[in-house]
Amino acid sequence: RNRSLEEYAARPAVTADGTRVELAANIGSAAEAENAVRQGADGVGLFRTEFLFMNAQAMPGEEEQFRAYREAARSMGGRSVIIRTMDIGGDKELPYLQLPKEMNPFLGYRAIRIGLDRQELLRTQLRAVLRASAFGTVKVMFPMISGLQEWRQAKAILTEVQAELSQDGVSYDKNMEVGIMVEIPSTAVLAEMFASEVDFFSIGTNDLVQYTVAADRMNEHVAHLYDYFHPAVLHLIHRVIEASHAVGKWTGMCGSMAGDPLAAPLLLGLGLDEWSLEASRLGGMKERLASLDRQECRELAKRILCLDTPQAVRQALEEFLNTQG
Ligand code: PEP
Ligand code: MG
Repeated sequence: RNRSLEEYAARPAVTADGTRVELAANIGSAAEAENAVRQGADGVGLFRTEFLFMNAQAMPGEEEQFRAYREAARSMGGRSVIIRTMDIGGDKELPYLQLPKEMNPFLGYRAIRIGLDRQELLRTQLRAVLRASAFGTVKVMFPMISGLQEWRQAKAILTEVQAELSQDGVSYDKNMEVGIMVEIPSTAVLAEMFASEVDFFSIGTNDLVQYTVAADRMNEHVAHLYDYFHPAVLHLIHRVIEASHAVGKWTGMCGSMAGDPLAAPLLLGLGLDEWSLEASRLGGMKERLASLDRQECRELAKRILCLDTPQAVRQALEEFLNTQG
């Protein structure tokens, strides 16, 4: 008999051949974590912490941040929570930070670029994240990494903050995983070089697409060019997953492609390890995954990597799904 979406939500995500798939939720506040669990999330794949900052009149201090991250960690009851450091800039403003007016905000002062420039902000946030790591399974990731130097700088700051906490006798998870978002093509191209240094990758397709095809994600006039099924984007995704697996690391995806049931057979076939999507989509995605055979999807992905337009990719996916029982 057919299961309802609620029934799917309550079960783990398993493919038709019995492969267990990790399905996590994107959240914008600690309060959303509880709902994510209710909707059947295996964890939080992306905690967008910038909303904590955007909903305030002044920069939230360490204590306030700590309480929010701890609440998320506790709500998830041991399931993993990936906290992304502040991704301000681009389309996200923060009046009290007085960011510069820029010609191209998406190519400008944004995310980790701000964190590495105004390090007191990043240090405070990392202290709060580390302290929260004592209350659950917390992982941290840096947004908008464009090269190894930035990653190493961010990692070095984290190491310094860890040493400070140890010195102060504050407890934190010494084995906390540290990863990066792959949302800039330069980082996807160098994935092999990153892979030996990071614990994991999380692909942010929302930005990766706009930077790969040079089409602003907010601009309706170029919306027809903005497509995560663009073959160039698919090759980058493939590259990142392969690079991580080659050295025993894992790759997740937290951009909106991860929430699209049409993309599921392709991503499964490419070997994606973790999907992070809006909590309301979890049930539908589990239903889709339950109909898929991993080996068939691998063969499909191989064929799709040879296609040359987004339209051809969509068509191949639709045809594949039409032949599924
Ligand atoms: C992304 O770029 O895909 C992503 C998940 O980050 P955001 O949408 O917050 O930029
Ligand atoms: Mg992004």
